[in-house]
Amino acid sequence: MPERLFVCTPSKLGSYEDCPRRYRYSYVDRPTPPKGPPWAHNSLGASVHTALRNWFALPVDRRRPEALPTLLKGTWVREGYRDEAQERSAYRRALEWLESYVETLDPAVEPLGVERVVAVKTSVLAFNGRADRIDARTGPDGPELAIVDYKTGRTGRDSDDARGSQALALYAVAAERVFRRPCRRVELHHLPSGTVAAHDHTPESLARQLSRAEDTARDIVAAERAVAEGGDPDEAFPTTPGPICTWCDFRKSCPAGAEAPAKEPWAALERVLTPAGEGPQP
Ligand code: SF4
Repeated sequence: MPERLFVCTPSKLGSYEDCPRRYRYSYVDRPTPPKGPPWAHNSLGASVHTALRNWFALPVDRRRPEALPTLLKGTWVREGYRDEAQERSAYRRALEWLESYVETLDPAVEPLGVERVVAVKTSVLAFNGRADRIDARTGPDGPELAIVDYKTGRTGRDSDDARGSQALALYAVAAERVFRRPCRRVELHHLPSGTVAAHDHTPESLARQLSRAEDTARDIVAAERAVAEGGDPDEAFPTTPGPICTWCDFRKSCPAGAEAPAKEPWAALERVLTPAGEGPQP
């Protein structure tokens, strides 16, 4: 019998690479262990992403900055903020980011995909993921694609972040297969700073990222099989305690996470609103 393909998304692979135990809590244990409360920085990131998705859903002649307050309000996520004053200040900041960002866009240029699901299969895995944006561009060798990922964390990213992102590389591989056009360019658009961190992959570097994803998929399948065959789930999916525990949704359910300092749901947001400091990058 052929092995079943491991069905995965970027967050599934990333979750296991960050911490196998977190992967288990998210994708294996049922019922799912209780999670902590929603994070304000995630609410802010989601709100900005949805506003940009809806921006591109507008007819070209309505893609004007005046449309942004309505777009942002329409799908604003309210969870995790300390109080209304903090939420208002986050809304104002998000609106400023969006206003500056759309100034850099040509409203007449239609992306090839907005929050578009792309998928690719190998002999090991079946990957699918939703890319924030896929641009059709003209490169030196003709039509090509670029993967765009929006970021709203406290600090900008650099080209090493774009190069090292497994998610972006897998989106590029999948977009190339789906649209049958070269896709080597990946970009992180950091809205708070207005910067773009870019990397141009080669077929070899994309193949390396795909191979790394396959290795992770094999590790996950082996761990899941070990548990199915009666192995100790705690051994199959070990904890990897570290700074990420502070921001882990399962901190309270995890013996290692209990050691990590607790943060208020808005702690990382405060750092986004007043940049430079520790915290996760939405
Ligand atoms: S609290 Fe830390 S060790 Fe526990 S699951 Fe989360 S990231 Fe892993």
